Amino acid sequence: MKSKDVVIIGAGITGLSVAYYLSRNGVRNIAVIDKSFPGSGSTGRCGTGIRQQFTTREHIVLMRESVKLWREWETSLPLSVHFRQGGYLWLLETEKEVSNFEKYVKLQNLFGVESRIIDKYEAKQIVPDLDIESIAGASWCPTDGNAYPFDTVEALKLALKNYGTEINAFEEVVGIETRGGAVKSVITNKETYSTNLVIDAAGFGARKIAKMAGIDLPLKLYRHQIAVSEPVKVFLEPMIVKGELYFTQTYRGRIIGGTDLNEPETESLQSTERFLEKYATELLSVMPVLSSLNVMRQWAGFYVVSPDHHPILGGTPVSGFLVATGFSGHGFMLGPVIGKLMAMYVLHGIMYLPEANNLGLDRFKKGKLIEEKAVIG
Ligand SMILES: Cc1cc2nc3c(=O)[nH]c(=O)nc-3n(C[C@H](O)[C@H](O)[C@H](O)COP(=O)(O)OP(=O)(O)OC[C@H]3O[C@@H](n4cnc5c(N)ncnc54)[C@H](O)[C@@H]3O)c2cc1C
Repeated sequence: MKSKDVVIIGAGITGLSVAYYLSRNGVRNIAVIDKSFPGSGSTGRCGTGIRQQFTTREHIVLMRESVKLWREWETSLPLSVHFRQGGYLWLLETEKEVSNFEKYVKLQNLFGVESRIIDKYEAKQIVPDLDIESIAGASWCPTDGNAYPFDTVEALKLALKNYGTEINAFEEVVGIETRGGAVKSVITNKETYSTNLVIDAAGFGARKIAKMAGIDLPLKLYRHQIAVSEPVKVFLEPMIVKGELYFTQTYRGRIIGGTDLNEPETESLQSTERFLEKYATELLSVMPVLSSLNVMRQWAGFYVVSPDHHPILGGTPVSGFLVATGFSGHGFMLGPVIGKLMAMYVLHGIMYLPEANNLGLDRFKKGKLIEEKAVIG
């Protein structure tokens, strides 16, 4: 039996970021546990996108802070995370969509996000290879961008190593012991950790972990597929979004992107030809110049979706059992701010951004859901 001040379950961006901010603030006796290797979950399968173009105060405020922290990570972590502010160009097909996005942009501007509605000719100036035939306008935010998931995981791992923080990979959590309504220990297939504080950052496994502590998280798992091309000369900085389609180019020259098949809930991560067909059709309708591009790889990962497409953060009815999950397809971008919020919550008992107080598990019981309208894929 080992004794730990904090046990973090999951070494995706969420668990690693929480561990990073706790370690940076002097907490040393932490174990991060993952049943596979760090980044093996949705983090290492994501589309790299980082945006502030959301439709709720909670997401906009959290993402504005997260972008600030991504900039900090780029310079303060031991390795580059390749954070680039190339913008998000959200193509809008109808005047109705433009008028909806005008409202979202107003809210984003209120909280300091530099987004604006532009006409299709300005969109073409930003990305000359776009086919603008079928669009009515676009929403543009030049300070949105992307980062590289694998470098981010490596940078956080190295930072944690420098603090002496333990990451126990290939160790599966199989039980949570509670007594008198409080957490007592975490049981894995290799060890028992006695602890008063557990953070469930297990992504696709978060619901199962919470159940071990007697808590029901209202989460669903949806398969999302994505593809990456052969590398070509870098010509595209922004992330392009149109309906369910999104794509950008990585700093290594590969076009990475995906779309949604509107599938039912599943536990399968099999990738399909149907996805590739839909993705290729949508991609070429927006950027025909890519017609001779070869796909190198395609894969699938989970969107861990909450009923209102916002994360579930903070305490639960079990004392010492905290959750940080339910990112609904945008948990990579939220990684830095979630890590800092959760670490400050552990250390000081409050969410340092008041908007995060609206994201607790209790909102489902109280019926206080906050619907996000700008969900991609
Ligand atoms: C195709 C696709 C594209 C995406 N694109 C974007 C994007 O562009 N931008 C964006 O912000 N987000 C995107 N996302 C969402 C994003 O990837 C996730 O929200 C984010 O990575 C969640 O990180 P996490 O650390 O919470 O979970 P994960 O990265 O899934 O990490 C959870 C970890 O917990 C571990 N675990 C699970 N069960 C157990 C157990 N019993 N014991 C021990 N360990 C356990 C897993 O092995 C895993 O490593 C995308 C997702 C997909 C699938």
